Amino acid sequence: MMSERLISLPLSSHNFQPSTHSNNLTMASGSCACHYISYTASTPPTCLVNCHCTTCRKQAGAPYQTWAFFATDDIRWLVNPTERQSTNVSKRTFCPKCGSTLSMLQHSDLKSIAIAAGTLNEGKTLIPPPSHHIFLSEKASWFKLPEGDGAKRWDNWGVYEKL
Ligand SMILES: [Zn+2]
Ligand SMILES: [Zn+2]
Repeated sequence: MMSERLISLPLSSHNFQPSTHSNNLTMASGSCACHYISYTASTPPTCLVNCHCTTCRKQAGAPYQTWAFFATDDIRWLVNPTERQSTNVSKRTFCPKCGSTLSMLQHSDLKSIAIAAGTLNEGKTLIPPPSHHIFLSEKASWFKLPEGDGAKRWDNWGVYEKL
């Protein structure tokens, strides 16, 4: 259980120290599959977006990757994930032990970070359902979009509020 607010960024397993300030409740948390990498945030994600682009699909090994958007400054990594330059517009991070995808950061928008929504812990946080499907031009042909999910649909980049 993460009951302590963590300070200083970036953090590693060797230097993290619980803050003496306990008035800021942790509102969201998550981890990779093996729990080596974990993170906290002070607020719930602003929105969830299903990205059907080829890179997300292959990286996820699934029809799409659901991203949960947070303010980059609000994510506290207890151990920093490994970075990979995935395309010319973004870098992604993953767990070096289990390979779980953790995040994506777009060079054009460093203020918001996309966290792999499947890594969010259930329980404490109110997590909104995905509100957008993006990059449907690259959608896997064998995947049928759910009817009536209320999510907006975009061929490429969508327009949505990340923060
Ligand atoms: Zn892991
Ligand atoms: Zn994508």
